[in-house]
Amino acid sequence: VDPRCPLCRHDGGEVLWRGPACRVVLVDEPGLPGYCRLVWNRHVRELTDLSAGERAELWRRVETVERTLRALLGPDKVNVASLGNMVPHLHVHVVPRFADDPHFPAPVWGPPRRAPRAGRGVDAGLLRAALVRGLGSPGT
Ligand SMILES: [Zn+2]
Repeated sequence: VDPRCPLCRHDGGEVLWRGPACRVVLVDEPGLPGYCRLVWNRHVRELTDLSAGERAELWRRVETVERTLRALLGPDKVNVASLGNMVPHLHVHVVPRFADDPHFPAPVWGPPRRAPRAGRGVDAGLLRAALVRGLGSPGT
């Protein structure tokens, strides 16, 4: 645990699912419904700081999050990215993308090209239930 690290001190968003090794949080970004971050619980900087088994688990969890978001939202594309330049605590962005979302087709971190479309959203309760079905009961 690094006391200066925001992802060690806080969950980093609304927790949808939590396991012993990692958690999935919902990122509140206008126009990007279902934007999830998978955050490794232990403070590590890079993918290669994980053991092979941990990397396999991370990837399996990312795949499940992606599959769940596709089934629930039917996005035009899913972006999967690990950056961590601002917060060097291993986390993976899983971002459902829509052709009319504010940033498409650019990455979500640049300036928006258009206003968020009204009425598009995701029910956090439904998403949580779907993730728990895919990832297993929280805490296991
Ligand atoms: Zn940390």
